Amino acid sequence: MPEQRERIIAANWKMNKTLHEGLALLVELNILLSNKPTQHTVVVAPPYIHLQSAVHAVADTGIKVAAQNCHQAPDGAYTGEISADMLQSVGAEYVILGHSERRQYFGETDELVAEKIKTATDNNLKVIYCCGESLEQREAGSHFELVKQQITTAVEGFQPNIIKDVVIAYEPVWAIGTGLTASPEQAQEMHAFIRETMAGIFGSEIADSTPILYGGSMKPANAAALLSQPDVDGGLIGGASLVAQDFFDIIHS
Ligand code: PEP
Repeated sequence: MPEQRERIIAANWKMNKTLHEGLALLVELNILLSNKPTQHTVVVAPPYIHLQSAVHAVADTGIKVAAQNCHQAPDGAYTGEISADMLQSVGAEYVILGHSERRQYFGETDELVAEKIKTATDNNLKVIYCCGESLEQREAGSHFELVKQQITTAVEGFQPNIIKDVVIAYEPVWAIGTGLTASPEQAQEMHAFIRETMAGIFGSEIADSTPILYGGSMKPANAAALLSQPDVDGGLIGGASLVAQDFFDIIHS
């Protein structure tokens, strides 16, 4: 891994934690990290409604805050939705886009996610762009083609100055929340392929500096093996990020 590539460990809380529980989790994480700091970038993605409180809770700790989604339009009559500009205004620095649960339950397509990436980066948010195949696609042997398609559709049209704010998270859908994990070899194989795909679009300099995170049932017991792969630059963690000690142990794997 080149020296310059950032390592990122990000927590996706999904629709979990009341405000009180979420703040307690952050307090515990802050204490653990202040006793044993990390060189990695640590990001937490609470539900929208906790974002501003989370930003205050992690002020001066180095922990960054992400949203789990945003709308593609800059503003307007979209009842119940949240814009990238709003996220920026409460201090969020990142936004997760294209998560498989957004694709599966809310019908988000690569084209829609590409619009969201544009709006997010226009508002100075960094994007964690999720891609990954289903079990059927892996079993059919179409996983490389599918991931290439997801990457190409989402990022191909952007200029390099936008792409420098995009982190990719490879999250095989069959491994998310299922307890199944890609083997370190499967993760490395796909991460190398994603980097090759990025190099084909933007050239090797951008491809080599883009962090590619693995997500899918990462936990303290399997994190070290996954994170030691040369093209795995960090993790996007769901379930295990809801327990401060587990998330901390992954950060220090
Ligand atoms: C996720 O939702 O991004 C994720 C990786 O979840 P889990 O770690 O629970 O599989």
